[in-house]
Amino acid sequence: MRDDNCIFCKIANGDIPSKEIYEDEEFKVILDLGPATKGHALILPKNHYRDLYELPDEAATKVMLLAKKLASGMTQKLNCDGFNLVQNNGEAAGQTVFHFHLHLIPRYEDDGQTLGWKAM
Ligand code: 5GP
Ligand code: ZN
Repeated sequence: MRDDNCIFCKIANGDIPSKEIYEDEEFKVILDLGPATKGHALILPKNHYRDLYELPDEAATKVMLLAKKLASGMTQKLNCDGFNLVQNNGEAAGQTVFHFHLHLIPRYEDDGQTLGWKAM
């Protein structure tokens, strides 16, 4: 379930270092290299799935439950005012790394970002 040419496979499985904020058997959560806001995190399955179409139902359920848990922790820890949970699916939608991931982006009043469906 790995693609040797995939940077997120390497990060999720520890071959390339990253700023990790959470890890379990199936997922790794890291800070984005080019954060949209302070605390911008990426939730990566350790297995390689290109996009949401390839993500098995069981992994889809787990990743959403994990996002929910992390969002609560993040809100408390960073004292953010809201968050965006984003998945860019396909090149036309702005996906640049073809290993499924969710962006969890803390939002702060007056953070100056205009994230929406166009952003990232
Ligand atoms: P996408 O455009 O595919 O939805 O998101 C890819 C995200 O991965 C971008 O926000 C980009 O900043 C981030 N990214 C790309 N390469 C790396 C990397 O090597 N390390 C980390 N931590 N983030 C990366
Ligand atoms: Zn991969």
